[in-house]
Amino acid sequence: MLAQPALDRNALFRLGYTSPAMSLARQDFIRDIIRADLAAGRHSQIRTRFPPEPNGYLHIGHAKSICLNFGIAEEFGGTCNLRYDDTNPAKEEREYIEAIREDVAWLGFRWHALRHASDYFEVFYRAAELLIREGKAYVCDLSQEEMRALRGTLTEPGRDSPYRERSTAENLELFRRMRAGEFPDGSRTLRARIDMRSGNLNLRDPALYRIKHLPHPHTGDAWCIYPMYDFAHALSDAIEGITHSLCTLEFEDHRPLYDWCVDNVRLHERPELLEPLREKGILDRPGRPRQIEFSRLELSHTVLSKRKLLALVREGLVEGWDDPRLPTLRGLRRRGVPPQAIRLFVERIGISKQNSRIDFSVFEGAVREVLDEEAKRRFAVLKPLRLILDNWPEGHEELIRLPNHPKNPAYGERTLAAGRELWIESEDFALSPPKGFHRLSPGAEVRLRGLGIVRCIEARLNPSGGVEAVKGWLDPDSRPGHPGAERKVKGTIHWLSTTHAVPARFRLYDRLFAVPNPDAEERPLAELVSPRSLETREGFVEPLLAAAEPEERFQCERLGYFVADRELHRPDAPVFNRIVALRDAWGGAHGR
Ligand code: ATP
Ligand code: MG
Repeated sequence: MLAQPALDRNALFRLGYTSPAMSLARQDFIRDIIRADLAAGRHSQIRTRFPPEPNGYLHIGHAKSICLNFGIAEEFGGTCNLRYDDTNPAKEEREYIEAIREDVAWLGFRWHALRHASDYFEVFYRAAELLIREGKAYVCDLSQEEMRALRGTLTEPGRDSPYRERSTAENLELFRRMRAGEFPDGSRTLRARIDMRSGNLNLRDPALYRIKHLPHPHTGDAWCIYPMYDFAHALSDAIEGITHSLCTLEFEDHRPLYDWCVDNVRLHERPELLEPLREKGILDRPGRPRQIEFSRLELSHTVLSKRKLLALVREGLVEGWDDPRLPTLRGLRRRGVPPQAIRLFVERIGISKQNSRIDFSVFEGAVREVLDEEAKRRFAVLKPLRLILDNWPEGHEELIRLPNHPKNPAYGERTLAAGRELWIESEDFALSPPKGFHRLSPGAEVRLRGLGIVRCIEARLNPSGGVEAVKGWLDPDSRPGHPGAERKVKGTIHWLSTTHAVPARFRLYDRLFAVPNPDAEERPLAELVSPRSLETREGFVEPLLAAAEPEERFQCERLGYFVADRELHRPDAPVFNRIVALRDAWGGAHGR
C-alpha cells in the first residue's frame, strides 16, 4: 500500500510556502517539542544544523531534512548551520562539497555558519585523550573480524576485548602513536569503554577512531586517524551549541551512544577543549544537544540512496547526476522543478515517526500546483502535421492576441502569427476517429484556439497510406469578434504558423522506474529502468518560446509544463524538458 498524506491543509500550505510568517502554524511532534522547550525556558535560541556527508549529491530525501532544519530555524528565530560530515575521506570528494552548497542555496535557504566536522578534528582528538585519561576509552588491537566475533548478538552478550584493561599510560602512548602514523590501517582502533553486555549493540565498546592513511579533502594529510560517525557527530553538535539534533529513524538506536559521547566529554563544561577552535575564529557557545528522530522520505518509482544513485550514474543508466529523471536536487533542477514545489511537497507530507513510501503523484501534484500559478502559457507542437486553411489566400498573415495566463490577467497578452499553413499535433487528427474523438477528422469541426472553427475538407495521404497534410475550411463567422464566435464545438486544439514556428527538441520524461518500489526488487537496477522514462521529439515552438532564457518555465497548452534546458537550450536551437504532464496519466493511458 502506498501512503497518501492528508491534503486537507492545502490553503494553509499554500500560504506557508509563500509567507514564512504563516508557517508558525506548522504542527508536528518536533515543533511541539521545540515550543515546549522554549516555553520552559530551556533555550534562549533554537539552533539546528543540516549535516550531509559529502559522498554524493543531495536528493529529495535530503530536502526533507533541509526544509525541517532550516524551516525550524526560520520559524523560531533561530539559526541553522550547514555542516559537512566529512569524517570518512575514503568516500568524500570536492565535487560533492561544492554541489551541496549550491543545492541548499538553490532550495532557498541560507546557513548561519558553514562548517566541516573536520574543522573540529583537534577538539575530537583532545576529547578522546580525555576519555582515555578517565578510563573511558582504550586502544584495541583486535581486527575488525575479531571485534565482530566478540560483539555478541541481540540475544547474546558480547565478550570483553583482551585489550580492555590496558593502563591509561599505555593507551595514551598507543593513541599518540596511532596519530603519529606508526601503525598500518586497520591494525588498531580507539574504543569507548562502555559495556559489552549492553542490550544495545551500539554501546558494546564502539570504535571512536580508526586508522586510515588517506588524504582528506579538507585537512589534507594532517591526519591518519579519523573519528567515527557517532563520536564526531555528537561532539560537532555539542561544539556548535545545537539545541535539537534532528536525524532520521535509523539513528534511534544510536541515541544512547550520542548521549554517552555528549555527557562524558561535557564540552560545555570544559572550555579548554575548545582552545584549537579559537585560533580558527570559531567562537560558538557549546551546549548539550538533544537528538530527535523522524522518518526518512521514501518515494515511489525511484531510489533515494546515494549508493544506488551512484550506481545509476556509474553504470551509465542515466546521463549524469543532473539527469532530469533522477531525484537528486541537481536532476530535479535540470528537469525544471521549481524549488518552491519541493518545499511545498515536503511540507505537505509532514514530519512523523511513521515510515511510509509516498506516491510519486503527490510530488507531481505539488509541482503542478506551483507551476499552474506561475507558468506562462505557450503553444508548442510535439508531433507536427500540416493543416492548410483552404479559404485563406497564399501569403495571408494575421496577428492573434492570446492571454499569457488564463487566471491571471496581470501576466498580460502575447501575439502569435497565423497563416494559411499551420502545424497541428498529428494526434489531433484521426482518419477514422474512434468513438468520442472530438478533434479533427474528415468532415468534422474543431476550434483552433484563438482563431476560429475549422472543418476538415480533405486529408492528403502519402504513398504508404499515412496522413501527409490536412485541408480545412476556417469558418469566417466563427472568428473572434464575429457573431458566430461563441458557437460550440466539442474540441479545441492548439496550432502554430509553419512560417513562424521554430524547430525545437523536446525531451519527455517519465518515472525512472516502472515498478513502485525498486528497492524491493531482486533484479539489477539496469533491468528496472523504465524504457519510456525518456522520449525525444523534434517539433516546433512559438518564437517567444525559442527566445526563452535557460531555466524559464512554461505551460505548453495541452502538453504539460516545460523548461528551457539549462545546459543545452539556445534561441536558434531550442531544447525543452517536460517537467510534468498536465494530468496524472500514470496507471491509465500514458501522457503523450
Ligand atoms: P543516503 O542513504 O542517501 O546516503 P544518508 O542518510 O547517508 O543518505 P547523509 O548525507 O548522511 O545521507 O544525510 C544528511 C542528512 O539528511 C541526515 O540528517 C539524514 O538523516 C538526512 N536524510 C538523508 N536521507 C533522507 C531521507 N530520505 N529523508 C529524510 N532525511 C534524509
Ligand atoms: Mg550517511
